[in-house]
Amino acid sequence: MTTSILNADLHCHSVVSDGTLTPEALAARAKANGVELWALTDHDEVGGQLRAAAAARELGLRYLTGVEISVTFAGETVHIVGLGFDATDTRMTDGLHLTRGGREQRAREMADQLAKVGIANAYEGALRFVGNPELISRTHFARFLVESGVCKDTGEVFRRFLTEGKPGYVPHRWANLQQAIQWITDGGGVAVIAHPGRYRFTANEQYALFSEFKAHGGQGVEVVTGSHSTSEYLTYADMAIEFGLAASRGSDFHSPDESHTDLGALPYLPGKLTPVWELLADRIQ
Ligand code: AMP
Ligand code: MN
Ligand code: MN
Ligand code: MN
Repeated sequence: MTTSILNADLHCHSVVSDGTLTPEALAARAKANGVELWALTDHDEVGGQLRAAAAARELGLRYLTGVEISVTFAGETVHIVGLGFDATDTRMTDGLHLTRGGREQRAREMADQLAKVGIANAYEGALRFVGNPELISRTHFARFLVESGVCKDTGEVFRRFLTEGKPGYVPHRWANLQQAIQWITDGGGVAVIAHPGRYRFTANEQYALFSEFKAHGGQGVEVVTGSHSTSEYLTYADMAIEFGLAASRGSDFHSPDESHTDLGALPYLPGKLTPVWELLADRIQ
């Protein structure tokens, strides 16, 4: 699989983290949408991997293991996608367990802030949308704020709440960059910088992220993602070449009602890039 002309979707979320579909329903949707190589990348959790791989096998859909790890870099949250690693390796599962710790406390502080602006019982409200309480996230609060009529959609939630400077924002320290890359590479996988266009970094900070990522053994960057504009595809294609990184492609699909990019519904990778699946040929299931 050396071609960039492949409908690979290597980034999406299930009910195991903050998506609304099961791993099986995502596999079926990916297949129906023409995806040829798929990875489920739940936040900080690999509990859906066996189900996703089994569902993909049933459908004749090629599969790579996946995860999206929350990392703190230069005071910002950065997401690192891992692909093709051994999901049973305890260095990965122990590391993710530590990363998940603290979400409950953070969620309680988020709810306290929301209570101060007149939104009561947000912790309990968000919990009703959570599959795994260890993974309570801003997405679940967003669904509660929509359901309770405070906002019309999750986009409005993140404009008015839960982001820096707005009620309900509680900063958090996640894993560090080097550790997250190590967990992925220890298990034979490839680490990928997720949606680099989303971080509010200066040019220098972004350069530092790419340099340190590469120095610690990171090998890929998302170029074509549901989080990037068309001009960002070009920006990060150039960055991939500048830093000698392979390119990845993924919708970041969470929910049929919320996500504007469906599984498999993205342009192909630009042909001048090395697709990340070229590095993972022997890890495809
Ligand atoms: P957390 O890990 O609790 O900080 O939550 C992060 C999640 O919130 C992301 O994975 C997205 O699913 C969601 N999210 C963050 N910012 C936005 C946004 N502007 N619009 C929609 N969803 C967002
Ligand atoms: Mn998410
Ligand atoms: Mn992300
Ligand atoms: Mn994601």
